[in-house]
Amino acid sequence: MTGPNLPDFFSVMARLRGSLGGRFSELFAVEQLCQQAGSMIQTRVEALVELNGLQLPITSLTIGNPETARNCLLLTGGIHGVERIGTQVLIAWLESVIERCRWDAHWQRQFDEELAIVALPIVNPGGMLQDMRCNPSSVDLNRHAPIDAEADTPFLIGGHRIWRKLPWYRGHWHRHQEIEFVALQNVVYRCTRPESLCLVVDFHSGFGFKDHLWIPYAFRKEPIEDIACYVALKLLWERNFPHHNYQFGPQAMHYLSHGDLWDYFHIQSREHGAKLLPLTLEMGSWLWVKKHPSQIFSFAGLFNPTVPHRHARVLRSHLILLDFLMAACRNPNQWLVEGEHARQLQQMAQALWYRHLPS
Ligand SMILES: [Zn+2]
Repeated sequence: MTGPNLPDFFSVMARLRGSLGGRFSELFAVEQLCQQAGSMIQTRVEALVELNGLQLPITSLTIGNPETARNCLLLTGGIHGVERIGTQVLIAWLESVIERCRWDAHWQRQFDEELAIVALPIVNPGGMLQDMRCNPSSVDLNRHAPIDAEADTPFLIGGHRIWRKLPWYRGHWHRHQEIEFVALQNVVYRCTRPESLCLVVDFHSGFGFKDHLWIPYAFRKEPIEDIACYVALKLLWERNFPHHNYQFGPQAMHYLSHGDLWDYFHIQSREHGAKLLPLTLEMGSWLWVKKHPSQIFSFAGLFNPTVPHRHARVLRSHLILLDFLMAACRNPNQWLVEGEHARQLQQMAQALWYRHLPS
């Protein structure tokens, strides 16, 4: 169910409380955050996902006003339901933003005109309740967008339409757009306007031993049109935090996939003259598995830290990055590049990542 006449978040949660029992701690953590934030966070139910008689909300949390703010930071988590840690990191950071607003007037004032934060911490609540990557219709939402890879993708993993029961199933966007996709698209449209920047961080886990910051596209090996802006952001980050531990580069260096949401939204926003710069924070869960091998026997354990001290370390380890990206989003004129400077950074990108391609 989508549309403007959905019930408010707190009444949806009141109805769910008895039915969910102790399950779905992330959803209740979102509720608790919003209750404690009071008027600092506006909640909006973007859609209700039906699952086994339950109506699970896809909820947006807004700080500031994205329709009037100069720039917008959009944060999304739980597109892959099993990757709970992304949602938890996102909630932990929002808690720190709200706490800071209580005592730091300078910090709070940034949300008057300069910046809005919009967060969708649980894009795929049905998948998260079931500990599954896909949504309740077995569709992998990050393979669902109407865009096909231009070169070979890894078998199945890159997205397929062979059989719904196999993982990484794309669904048929042209026949039926998944409700989670529609809800996310509505939010992206609200956050993107000409002459403003919308910086996106989409939280995932499960790939590799290191934490990656992925630059689009996933559908082709050639650089995204905005590659110079991404290089500028990477350089700014590295100047400020030279000892950081992220692999910051294009996703296509690792693999290509069909139907990537952010590829699609980036192309759409360019057609509307808006500046949307998506990043994927892909937390390297293989290290958690390596250090605690019994995690391999649980599907959720492949994507989430299970040992408490490691879990706490993950929750705190991305706070600096997110504070930095918020500040970058507030000050785009300091690093977004055009003209000759952009051409120089394109050449740098070519040398860093695209040497195998003709320049
Ligand atoms: Zn993921």
